[in-house]
Amino acid sequence: MGKYKRLVTLALTSLFILNSGCGYYKSDVAFNQEERKPAIKIVKNNLEITKDKKPEINESNINQVRTNNDSVAEPVKSAVNQELVEFKGNIQHIFFHPLIVYPKMAFDGDYLTQGYNDWFVTVNEFKKIIESLYNKNFVLIDIRDTYEAFEVDGRRMVQDKKLMVPKGKKPMIISIDDLNYYEYMIENGNAHKLIIDGDGVVKTYSVNEKGEKIISDDNDIVPILDKFVEQHPDFSLNGAKGVIALTGYEGVLGYRTNELKSDKFEEEKAEAVKLIEMLKQNGWTFACHGYGHLDAKKIDIKRLIRDTNRWKNEVEPLIGPTPVYIYPFGSTVNYSDAKFKFLMGNGFEIFCGVGPEAITEYKKDCILTDRRPIDGISFHYNSKKLMDLFDCGKVVDKCRPEKY
Ligand SMILES: [Zn+2]
Repeated sequence: MGKYKRLVTLALTSLFILNSGCGYYKSDVAFNQEERKPAIKIVKNNLEITKDKKPEINESNINQVRTNNDSVAEPVKSAVNQELVEFKGNIQHIFFHPLIVYPKMAFDGDYLTQGYNDWFVTVNEFKKIIESLYNKNFVLIDIRDTYEAFEVDGRRMVQDKKLMVPKGKKPMIISIDDLNYYEYMIENGNAHKLIIDGDGVVKTYSVNEKGEKIISDDNDIVPILDKFVEQHPDFSLNGAKGVIALTGYEGVLGYRTNELKSDKFEEEKAEAVKLIEMLKQNGWTFACHGYGHLDAKKIDIKRLIRDTNRWKNEVEPLIGPTPVYIYPFGSTVNYSDAKFKFLMGNGFEIFCGVGPEAITEYKKDCILTDRRPIDGISFHYNSKKLMDLFDCGKVVDKCRPEKY
């Protein structure tokens, strides 16, 4: 890597991690509610969601129903015969970053240690969390199954959709932000990339503290959840797994598809595409996380347009169109803002921010939703609020720095 690029990487790294991680909040209350306050009524978990009045629709002006024209996962053999009932509460949505595989590298006292302690979760912590979610009767669902789209007089509209879940189960969406395996990540204890192993299974490739190359069906969320759902098919509705949110400035999933002039570009791209197809077959879906991980609220519209176009040119051809936009830094844009209209005009219709509650607001033509962060900050400051999901006392890894 050239010196310049390394500097840029370091600068971006510092920007992400030290200023606000991939994050979003400095305290429990800051979040992004300031700008969303007029539109959203904060409701407690498992109460009725807030939504707009549905548009008047009659048979004659409906052209199209459902949004899931993308590949749909094969149903997992399982408790399929279980009775399905309509779920009427608030759909939970939590998110993670790529997991810390080698804590000694993440918590080595360098300038990124605090960022890792703030924004990341270890492999062991993640395993305990999904075990708890499973025991608490959550079931993974596809984010695209939370709404339906249709046209009214040529205008695309969306509305809440009746969600049927096995009796006693509570729907859960999991998303993973920045599963790009940035340079700083592979130097600080995350895996290096996802690969398809010879046996056709998606695994992680990583290099441990001793410099040994490791291929494993463990070590990050994708293989761990794939394996968990295989063992517990009733943890997933119709094989759904999670949403993978990708930027583009250092490629995707560990493949440097951003280096358009590299000799290896075609090879990297082909491998990434093959992997993405397999991930889709396995129940994973994808979201836009901006190209350069910019703060959509702060930048002007010209910069947002450039950034989005670059994502559409480099990342969308790999993953296909997606209706899901996951704001970098959780920094949301107002529904009335021209920037928001621009994003909607580019096919996005589910907009994910970050908040203390997983609230969802159905507008006439889009959906605004908040995801709950699962990371060191929430373990430290929000442990009580997380009790509906897991007990931090039983989850938090001893390998974390003693002093927060
Ligand atoms: Zn991010």
